Amino acid sequence: MRKKIVAGNWKMNLNLQEGVALSKQLNEALTADRPHCDVIICTPFIHLATIAGTIDKKLMGLGAENCADKESGAYTGEVSAAMVKSTGAEYVILGHSERRQYYGETPEILKEKVLLALKNGLKVIFCIGESLEEREANRQNEVVKKQLEGSVFNLSAAEFKQITVAYEPIWAIGTGKTATAEQAEEIHAFIRAAIAEHYGKDTADETSILYGGSCKPSNAPELFAKPDIDGGLIGGAALKCADFKGIIDAWKK
Ligand code: PEP
Repeated sequence: MRKKIVAGNWKMNLNLQEGVALSKQLNEALTADRPHCDVIICTPFIHLATIAGTIDKKLMGLGAENCADKESGAYTGEVSAAMVKSTGAEYVILGHSERRQYYGETPEILKEKVLLALKNGLKVIFCIGESLEEREANRQNEVVKKQLEGSVFNLSAAEFKQITVAYEPIWAIGTGKTATAEQAEEIHAFIRAAIAEHYGKDTADETSILYGGSCKPSNAPELFAKPDIDGGLIGGAALKCADFKGIIDAWKK
């Protein structure tokens, strides 16, 4: 059975003290009321080492939001996959639309990042998703398939097992506009079929595919009830313990 996952993406929010406070609050909430899914928080680099020391890793995984496309060396300001791993983090988000859009991350750059993350023992949450323009032109399937082909379909089947896919339509991220459960299920099923075509049915059946884009406690149960939606990648609602916990609890319904 593939894993059910709720992962938070804090983006560039919360200073260190606020981040540590939120992670402790979440740790307490999950200790008192055990989740029925895997929970991961992905935080700014600077928070990782401290948060790694405050959370129960059996309750919650920890990840970064990015890593460098180079192994090490003279790349001022960059943070390598090995450095992320050395903090105690186990995951990294790669391919987020904000990285593609604002920082020019191409499929080739992402391919390098994925390889380095896996080489350094990190599991990857790989984001894909179409723009509003692409959705309106009904090109969403073609776009997500190309994103997979460009950055992760080069992996061996064994390597691909370390990948969780996050389908995040750009038009739904931070906009309050959620894909309907039917829209999300349709493209999740397409993504799973594309994985099956490339790696075979067993691998596709084992791959967790998360939905991201204005997911909240009120819409999570309907989304997570769909057969090909294995959880969520959560932005805004991951910044408040009650909201994030509310989404985690959708797996209890
Ligand atoms: C995200 O950016 O990964 C995301 C899903 O954001 P939000 O939940 O705020 O739409």
